[in-house]
Amino acid sequence: MSPLPAGSTIGILGGGQLGRMLAGAAARLGFDVVILVPGESPPAARVAARHIDADYEDEDALKMFAEACDVITYEFENIPVASIAHLTTLGADVRPGIKSLEVSQDRLSEKQFLNVIGIETGRFEPVDSVEQLKTALEAIGGDGLLKTRRDGYDGKGQVRVRSVDDLAAAYSQIGDAPAILEALVPFEREISVVIARGVDGQMAAYDPSRNEHESGILKRSTAPCGLPDDVISRAMDLAGTLARETGHIGVLALELFVLEDGTLLANEMAPRVHNSGHWTPEACATGQFEQHIRAVAGWPLGPVTRHFDVEMENLLGEEALAPPQSFAEGTILTLYGKRDAKPARKMGHAVRRTGRA
Ligand code: AMP
Repeated sequence: MSPLPAGSTIGILGGGQLGRMLAGAAARLGFDVVILVPGESPPAARVAARHIDADYEDEDALKMFAEACDVITYEFENIPVASIAHLTTLGADVRPGIKSLEVSQDRLSEKQFLNVIGIETGRFEPVDSVEQLKTALEAIGGDGLLKTRRDGYDGKGQVRVRSVDDLAAAYSQIGDAPAILEALVPFEREISVVIARGVDGQMAAYDPSRNEHESGILKRSTAPCGLPDDVISRAMDLAGTLARETGHIGVLALELFVLEDGTLLANEMAPRVHNSGHWTPEACATGQFEQHIRAVAGWPLGPVTRHFDVEMENLLGEEALAPPQSFAEGTILTLYGKRDAKPARKMGHAVRRTGRA
């Protein structure tokens, strides 16, 4: 496909902050954006040209959406694969494509896929019953994290399990749902690589960031990540392998645990722009949101050179309601326009440039 001309329409499935920031980047490049997401006034819909308020499975809405858009993407990995397939049968160009979405919707298939393409993970075992949980726990050494295979995010759908625990209670805590048990990884730090792949297969990886979590939720990302060059280049290579092997078009993220000896173990992937890349617009020649739009529009990728050292902090719940003057001078604020500042809800983020790169 030749590059989409400015003035074309990009469709985004999903309407949260990622969609909002993608819509902003698309607008800057001269595109119109249509958002398909159920709900009256989601954050992305308030900055888009049009909002189709419908369920992802609504076939009439999908048809209207396909007709309105020159290319379609998504901002959220729990879009039903069947809806993407349906859009494709209607003749829509959906980018990144189905493979990376399908793989990432299920923690078990994701980890198995990563291992098959040569990306190591920590040890994991499938769990579909309390009996299996007992066997799995023995296999991984008596201490682990039980996670639902589907629909978990920000530490939700997870519970720490030790062999002395009431295993039936632990399994019921995650809803007796299909799950995996992961061995606890004794990481020295966590990093992620955000990478883009264009329609022509060209790839561009951002410098990895160091990520710190609180209660399973990302709190802070820092670049540079403070690791030696050889570890950084291995991390970038792994992300490249993932983008290539999934035939992904657009941005994806690979979260990695780094062990004391430099071993890299994948935690998870996200087939989309990622919270740990929110510093890229303020630090790099091309930010992750513009990069994703460039890729799905068939444009050449922009340079990802990092010009600043940065620290990005998520503003959770009422932290985002602090008066603007209370942030240190030079803080670059992004607020998501969410109406309800529930505790731990991602409401915005603050980027500080800490030096020249
Ligand atoms: P997740 O939602 O699976 O990405 O987990 C959120 C965070 O919990 C991760 O970024 C880690 O800080 C921690 N975590 C998740 N799984 C493991 C594990 N197997 N071992 C150690 N820490 C973990």
